[in-house]
Amino acid sequence: MTTIEPKYKNFPLDQSKENSKESEIVLKVKDLKTYYPILGGIFKRTIGEVKAVDGVSFNLNKNETIGLVGESGCGKTTIANTILNFVPPTAGEIFLKGKKILEGRTTLHKKIRRKEILSKSKIIGPSFYMFYRIFDSILQDLELNLRYIKKKILNFSKKLSDIFRIQLERIVRLVSDIYLKERGLFTKKIRKKIQIVFQDPDSSLNPRWKIVDIIGEPLKILVRITKRKEIRRMVLKLLRTVSMKREHLDRYPHEFSGGQKQRITIARALACNPEILLLDEPTSALDVSVQAQILNLLKDLQNKFGFSYLFITHDLTVVQHIADRIKVMYLGKFVEEGTIDDVFNNPSHPYTKALLSARPTFDPEQKRNRIILEGDVPSPINPPSGCPFHPRCQEKDKHIGCGIEKPRRIKVEGGSGEHYIFCLPFKKEGKTSYEGWEFISD
Ligand code: SF4
Repeated sequence: MTTIEPKYKNFPLDQSKENSKESEIVLKVKDLKTYYPILGGIFKRTIGEVKAVDGVSFNLNKNETIGLVGESGCGKTTIANTILNFVPPTAGEIFLKGKKILEGRTTLHKKIRRKEILSKSKIIGPSFYMFYRIFDSILQDLELNLRYIKKKILNFSKKLSDIFRIQLERIVRLVSDIYLKERGLFTKKIRKKIQIVFQDPDSSLNPRWKIVDIIGEPLKILVRITKRKEIRRMVLKLLRTVSMKREHLDRYPHEFSGGQKQRITIARALACNPEILLLDEPTSALDVSVQAQILNLLKDLQNKFGFSYLFITHDLTVVQHIADRIKVMYLGKFVEEGTIDDVFNNPSHPYTKALLSARPTFDPEQKRNRIILEGDVPSPINPPSGCPFHPRCQEKDKHIGCGIEKPRRIKVEGGSGEHYIFCLPFKKEGKTSYEGWEFISD
């Protein structure tokens, strides 16, 4: 495999400023971080964090497919789960058509602390801040159970004397209102616009439900259609959209093949007329011939309805077939991004080069160019200093400061003009610094 040495050019670090017109952007992800807490000790306090997604930004345009590739555990699915508000973002912001739908817990807490909590402390008294801190620490550990915790505390308050009960109830209601108000950004209306297709159709379909009920569920919950006849009519229309028939309406999932089940999950995702589909390895559980059918179906649907896809996969051939742009991920960060032609014709990051060299090929000559990465993927709990890829990088000796400096976003010249890598400059004869390179600082 021949590789072209990349030419570098300075470029600002804000990855979300991609060459796309603001009006075309349907989804904007800005400096997103999602950390999973590690709980420990008697009180199950947070003692560490798994940095699943660590500062990624991108724009998804209308009628566009972005392929998100990387090995298992690099954070691809966590990005999708965060966009859907299945897991709360730790930091960063997500916008749908210019409207903020999610923001990181860090930003959220700062806002709460600075504005509302302090102003309310003045009204209620210093005890408010103390109760807030206790409530806040419980919520940080069990964030998704806000209503449950609120109910428990309110039940407990009934055992207290009136003076404490009234004070505690007031504080709990105020704090939970603040949280709910902020979380309320992600409404049902937004959930309708962003839908997901999961990897394994077997586990995403309820085996006890008929197809009409499975596809009809989002119609009931999100579109609020209640008449049975209307639901059947809509489900039939959706089934026909994915090339299935009327007789499939009253069958159960076990009566279908893998490809048909995946068509059903796609029909369910289309039920509430979304604009964005997050496709989390939708073809990896299928045979190659069925994979091609599903990919063609997805392409047809995109051409017909103008959907935007975030296509998560570890299969480079699939992404080359379906995506317009590609983002390569390693340990929670993007390492290379560009159009499909840019990245496949001129892979410039050492990790992308290794990934592409591992693709199966019919050319026996290519075996000689196979790049074998040493060691395992480091733990996202304690990622390596500097460039997270440096312990395995086959090119680190040619670059400066790999174990110390954070990689910079660098534009690769040529191609479409939208090709970037996250790396550090080459060593030059007699130079041990960034002399000759002008990087925008962090
Ligand atoms: S910054 Fe250094 S270690 Fe990281 S990818 Fe570039 S050359 Fe390799």
